[in-house]
Amino acid sequence: MISSLIWEYQARENQDKILNAESPVAIRVTRILRGILQATHRSLGLKNDFRVSVYVPRKELQMPKLTDDDDVIGDFFEFRKKVRNYYSSHPNKRVQNRPLEVRKFGIRYGTEHLEGLNWELMLIDDPVPNAAHLPYGRIMLYTKWLEILTDAELATVLAHEVGHGLARHPSENLLRLLLFVFFTCVLVPKVNGFGLKTAVFIGVVMVAKIIDLFITRRSEIEADQIGIMLLAGAGYDPRQAPKFPEKSEKSKGSLLSSHPSGKKRAKKLRRGKVTRKAEDIYDRARAGQPLEAFK
Ligand SMILES: [Zn+2]
Repeated sequence: MISSLIWEYQARENQDKILNAESPVAIRVTRILRGILQATHRSLGLKNDFRVSVYVPRKELQMPKLTDDDDVIGDFFEFRKKVRNYYSSHPNKRVQNRPLEVRKFGIRYGTEHLEGLNWELMLIDDPVPNAAHLPYGRIMLYTKWLEILTDAELATVLAHEVGHGLARHPSENLLRLLLFVFFTCVLVPKVNGFGLKTAVFIGVVMVAKIIDLFITRRSEIEADQIGIMLLAGAGYDPRQAPKFPEKSEKSKGSLLSSHPSGKKRAKKLRRGKVTRKAEDIYDRARAGQPLEAFK
């Protein structure tokens, strides 16, 4: 449910910039993502086929922006009710079942979370070079910067995002956020005195930030490693993959950046063990042989 709320919140914030499924950019992104997902399914031997859909905003979910006079809490519950109604009345059965799946808190094992998954793309016509991944195959992409990428580079971006989904990073991130909110709400009010309260709050934020940096950087490397295998499985030359993080905007890296530097990401992708395996998968994909990317 929280994932649905964040998703709908993003849709509301970007409602004037969301591309429809018929736009050339959406058609191109969908085509390349399908290729990556086909490779994922072939590699993992998944039984139930996937779907890819482009997010279309629903009129009834577009609420007016809040003003200072609005009842924020009441509005939040009203908004949550609308999101719940939206999913339960959706014509697609898989989308309909989403709130129920979320109630299990994502505790499932292996690759089961990918079986029959409806991957949903929210394409935002904006020049910010960014992409985000929420649980249950929801990928948000800012599209202006994608227009200048070659198909192989765009496939690198998408394979990286699918890599996050495969490794369940979006669920891990959400769980960490919930733990942070829980600790802040439980610990801080228990402390007496304004000064001490502030100190504990700053301490919790700092510890959370350090843990978050450590985990997100590790997740980025992991998504790159999975991504290069999927890229090769989809028939794109994996030797192109390390060039992308070097070129991209986020490649500069900084002490507080959630992403490792592009140089470090490229170096990890050029390790002999990784390239040998990726090139083997690439040869197999091109010869139409079975893929065994994760064995
Ligand atoms: Zn990433």
